[in-house]
Amino acid sequence: MIHNVSNNQSSQFSDQLKRGFAGLRFSGFVEEEFLSHYAQANVQRSRLFPILAIGVTLISIGITVAEGDSHSVMLAFNFFIMLPVLGATLWASLDPARHRGYQFLLAISAVLIGMWITSIVIRASIGGAPYYFSALVAWVFSVWLILGLPFRHAAVTVLVITGLYMFGGNSWDLHLNEMIFTTAMLIFINGIGAFCCYQLEHAVRCTFLDSRVLSQLAERDGLTGLYNRRSYDEYADRIWRQSRREETQLTLMLVDIDHFKPFNDYYGHQAGDDALKEVANVIAMSAQRPLDFVARYGGEEFALILYSPAHEYGHDLPEQLRASVRDLKIPHADSPTYQYLTVSIGVAHIIPGSTRSLVGAIQMADEALYQAKAEGRNRVIVKESDSVIHTGRFRAGKKATV
Ligand code: GH3
Ligand code: MG
Ligand code: MG
Repeated sequence: MIHNVSNNQSSQFSDQLKRGFAGLRFSGFVEEEFLSHYAQANVQRSRLFPILAIGVTLISIGITVAEGDSHSVMLAFNFFIMLPVLGATLWASLDPARHRGYQFLLAISAVLIGMWITSIVIRASIGGAPYYFSALVAWVFSVWLILGLPFRHAAVTVLVITGLYMFGGNSWDLHLNEMIFTTAMLIFINGIGAFCCYQLEHAVRCTFLDSRVLSQLAERDGLTGLYNRRSYDEYADRIWRQSRREETQLTLMLVDIDHFKPFNDYYGHQAGDDALKEVANVIAMSAQRPLDFVARYGGEEFALILYSPAHEYGHDLPEQLRASVRDLKIPHADSPTYQYLTVSIGVAHIIPGSTRSLVGAIQMADEALYQAKAEGRNRVIVKESDSVIHTGRFRAGKKATV
């Protein structure tokens, strides 16, 4: 599955891998991506806690009401604080990609559950049942290792829970010896939990970076950093089906550098590579909306897909792109048509329907490109979906209806 991120964003993963990282933190965009990935990877497991806690809270409310104790603090706490926070956490877990809100609520839920366990543990202990303390130990371990909170969130959460325990024990006059022993125990357990949580997150961060860099290698073209042809085919197929479902317009563009063979012959292959990179940058900069897609289609040919373009965007962008490449003013002394390097662009505006095929749409853009070449290059030719197809490389052997 392609992560549709820009050229620049994509290279940040390999930059981060080269630089390494200290203290469980990546830089900027990479950190955001990681936190979102981390929340999504853990959501199924961690969703179990609010679900269980909601069940326990409802039972607790039921028992309190059945006992006729309708004014108790516990009832108000369960009803007005526990239930809304747990419910909000569960709701936020439906979209863990927006990790900030979700992880914040998860941490608050963990504190509330910790507070609830703490009050039971201390009351039980005062009532002569100190072994309830093991429930708090289990919860502290869960927060560190099972809840799926990032290390920093988990650390703050258990710190608050430990503080609450010490405060509660002190306020309710827990026996001093027991207080000292249990606090020392909590500190020790937190040490183990913190160590394991840190190691775990560090390992997950390493794997995350490796896998992003690997998928970047598989999806991207090595020279320009744009998506490669394989990614284009995969993305085009996916966006075509989405566009058909939503009955929105797609714009397919093919961009081909004019007289590039003579450019290579005249200036050399290295200069050709540099020019390709410059043109690729201009193309990548020109289509930056979230669903816009830019790929190196082959040699000196690029392909763009604009999803549901506003009329001006889909119509103006190809012309702007053509002008921007010309304005790079890369000298092309051996070009029969212009003194600088230029591109020809074929554009197909199409609304995918059941009688249309993606192959046919690409064929339309291809025909437009060839018309631009035939009419003198350095120009844009646009075909709307009702244009009739005459020729084209993509036609051979394929019965596409456009
Ligand atoms: P037209 O205006 O009709 O498109 O002419 P053209 O010369 O651009 O087209 P042609 O298909 O004859 O030549 C494409 C050239 O692109 C051939 C090849 O040398 C060059 N090319 C393809 N890939 C690369 C590359 O990665 N680096 C370099 N330097 N050149 C490349
Ligand atoms: Mg060419
Ligand atoms: Mg070509």
